[in-house]
Amino acid sequence: MNDAGGKFETLAVTHGERGQRPAEGVEDVAVPVHLSSTYAVPDIDPDASLETLDPDAGEFLYSRLSNPTRNALEHRLAALCGGEHAFAFASGTAAIVTAISAAVEPGDHVVAFDDLYGGTKSMLSRFFEDRLGVAVTLVDARDTEEVAAAMRPETALIWMESPTNPLLRLCDIEAVAAVADEHGALLGVDNTFVGPYFQRPLELGADVVVHSTTKYLNGHSDSIGGALATNDEAFAEEVTFLQRVGMGNMLAPFDAYLTLRGLKTLPLRMEKHASNARAVAEFLSDHSAVSAVHYPGLDSHPQHGLAARQMSGYGGVLSAELATGLDGAARFVAELDHFPLAVSLGGVESLIEHPATMTHSPLSQSERDFLGITDSLLRISVGVEHESDLLSDLATGLDAL
Ligand SMILES: *Cc1c(COP(=O)(O)O)cnc(C)c1O
Repeated sequence: MNDAGGKFETLAVTHGERGQRPAEGVEDVAVPVHLSSTYAVPDIDPDASLETLDPDAGEFLYSRLSNPTRNALEHRLAALCGGEHAFAFASGTAAIVTAISAAVEPGDHVVAFDDLYGGTKSMLSRFFEDRLGVAVTLVDARDTEEVAAAMRPETALIWMESPTNPLLRLCDIEAVAAVADEHGALLGVDNTFVGPYFQRPLELGADVVVHSTTKYLNGHSDSIGGALATNDEAFAEEVTFLQRVGMGNMLAPFDAYLTLRGLKTLPLRMEKHASNARAVAEFLSDHSAVSAVHYPGLDSHPQHGLAARQMSGYGGVLSAELATGLDGAARFVAELDHFPLAVSLGGVESLIEHPATMTHSPLSQSERDFLGITDSLLRISVGVEHESDLLSDLATGLDAL
């Protein structure tokens, strides 16, 4: 469309913006950020439907419904997660609440890992259980038998994470998928802690996989977002309705652009995260001031065999327990230069956090004791810096104890 001309005030609002696209056959190499909230369409279409707008057919009407930048990201997420369909959300939390909402209704039952991300646990109890009448049973899913024993006729969903936060516990995704199938339930897996480069739950039999793209997928600690992927047509249709209309919790275009940009280097980053994390895990394991290291790549991890079967790499997160109390953990953290004290993970920069007083502080002491989160436990998200700088920094911290 050409500019319509007009007086100063009209030109100030509209001039120059319309029709700014490359000629047929000329394409952007990097995806453009389509920030427009609405689209000028060529004519009135009596057959248009908001819920069936197909961005792949160039159907854009309003950016909550479909947006070219988000659509590009959703295609890439689908490909990397091994799903036919993918959706990008405003946060990992938004992806999770949408996935669970698409799977359950009042009166249904959910079986979930007792070691879930804290926000998901609160969501299940305060939103789904207390408000919507969905029963929830938490089990130690390291043992598939516990998952099977908790199943009821009305169980509609099994919700898992592997590895978990912060103790890097695993569940056998393939075996849990078999339990879900046997009971006609869906299996959802939050794969945030390792990401799709090293583990693809849909290929192991899960029905839906979610990621907080805030972590490894975007990878640069500068965007909050979430992703959901599935091969289940009916489920994807329900998610489409929830994302576009029922919840309206889609990812904004600029964050979609950042995440597309971040994904370009996901394999390179993951290889470096994993090799640095292994070096840090081995270094800490050998140090007398450290009483335990939790990393699925170590032979000493009680589920290392399972890790080797279902993951092609072990990621960049580990946790370690110091042979001191809370004050020792505080002294250690204060000595570090390359590990700022911060929650979150999966960015190129290394971070350290103290679960008892940070991510897991909403839990009671007895809940933390039950999960094994002690006052001297520290979680480390190992970045892509040079290994020797990270190891010497940690050595300095441990020497101070
Ligand atoms: C961070 C995280 C979430 C929540 O994602 P947000 O993007 O912060 O909403 C969910 N699950 C896991 C495992 C996480 O690490």
